[in-house]
Amino acid sequence: TLQVAMAFALMSALYGDFMKAVGASVRIFDLLDRKATVPNDGGEIMTRLSGRVEFKDIFFTYPSRPETQVLKGISFTVNPGEMVALVGPSGGGKSTIVNLIERFYDPDSGTITLGDRPLTELDPQWFRQKVSMVSQEPTLFASSIKDNIAYGQDASIEKIEAVSKEANAHEFISTFEEGYETLVGERGVRLSGGQKQRVAIAQALKMDPALLLLDEATSALDAESEHLVQEAIDRAMKGRTVIVIAHRLSTVRNASKVIVIDKGVIAEIGTHDELLANDGVYKKLVLRQLNAGAVNAADLAAIREQ
Ligand code: ATP
Repeated sequence: TLQVAMAFALMSALYGDFMKAVGASVRIFDLLDRKATVPNDGGEIMTRLSGRVEFKDIFFTYPSRPETQVLKGISFTVNPGEMVALVGPSGGGKSTIVNLIERFYDPDSGTITLGDRPLTELDPQWFRQKVSMVSQEPTLFASSIKDNIAYGQDASIEKIEAVSKEANAHEFISTFEEGYETLVGERGVRLSGGQKQRVAIAQALKMDPALLLLDEATSALDAESEHLVQEAIDRAMKGRTVIVIAHRLSTVRNASKVIVIDKGVIAEIGTHDELLANDGVYKKLVLRQLNAGAVNAADLAAIREQ
C-alpha cells in the first residue's frame, strides 16, 4: 500500500501543479522547468527529520526568466521549534524562498540544508511529506474531503475528524449530507477560500510535519472566516518549526525572528522590537500598514508603546 500511497501523493501533487498551471501560461513553463531541473525520486530516506533549515549564500534565477536573478546571496538559519516570519515588499523573493525549501527548483549556487542534510541528498517525495505548505489559495484535488485530508496515506476516520476539529473544519464538513465523503473540486461542492484553507490545515495537521510553511492571507476572507482560519493556524503552529510569509503584525510580533527580504537580499533580520528600533525597511513597512489601517487595535496599542 505504500506504493499506492506514494502514487496517490504524486498524482495529487501533479494535479495541484496542473491546476496552478491552468491560470497563466508562465506557470506552465514553470512546471516544465521544474520537471527538467529537479528529479522526483532518488536520494536518502531518513528515519528522522528535524525542522532545521539553513540557507547558505543562495543565489537563484527562475529557469523561465534567465535574465533576472531573483535571490542574491540569502543566508539564514531556522532552528527547530522556531517560528520565523518572512516579510518585505511585494516581489522581493519571499515565495521563492519557500519554493526552494520544497525543492521545486534548485538554486544557481549555495546550499540549502533541511534537518542536517543538504536538500539535494534527500528523496524529494519523502521529504515533501515532512514539509507541509498551507498557501493562501490551497488547491484541493478532485476527490472526497476525507481523501484530501488523508493525502494518500492510511488514516482512520477518527483521526481525520480529530484533525478537522483542530482545524475548525469539522463543523462545516458535518453540514454536508455526505460529510467527509463529500466530493470537492470540479464536480464536487465549491468550498469558500477560508474553508479550503481549513481543509489544507487539517491535512497539514494529519501529516504532523517537521516543518510547516505558511503563506498568510492578505485579507481576502470575511471576518468570521478569517477568525476561524487564524485560530486553526495558531493551533497548527504551536510546538512546530514554522516559516511564515507574514502579513499580520501579530504574527511578526510573535516570531522568534523576522527576516526582511527586499529585492532578493536580506535587508534586515531580528525580532520585531529590534527591527523597529533599527529605523529601516521594516519600520517603514509597519508604518505603511498602520497608515493603511490594516492593523487591529491590540497591535496598534503595542506599536504605540514602542
Ligand atoms: P509577494 O509578496 O508579492 O508574494 P514575494 O516577495 O513572495 O512577493 P516572489 O513571488 O518570490 O516575491 O517573486 C520574486 C521575483 O521572482 C519577482 O520578480 C517575480 O516576478 C519573480 N517570479 C516569481 N515566480 C516566478 C516564476 N514562477 N517564474 C519566473 N519569475 C518568477
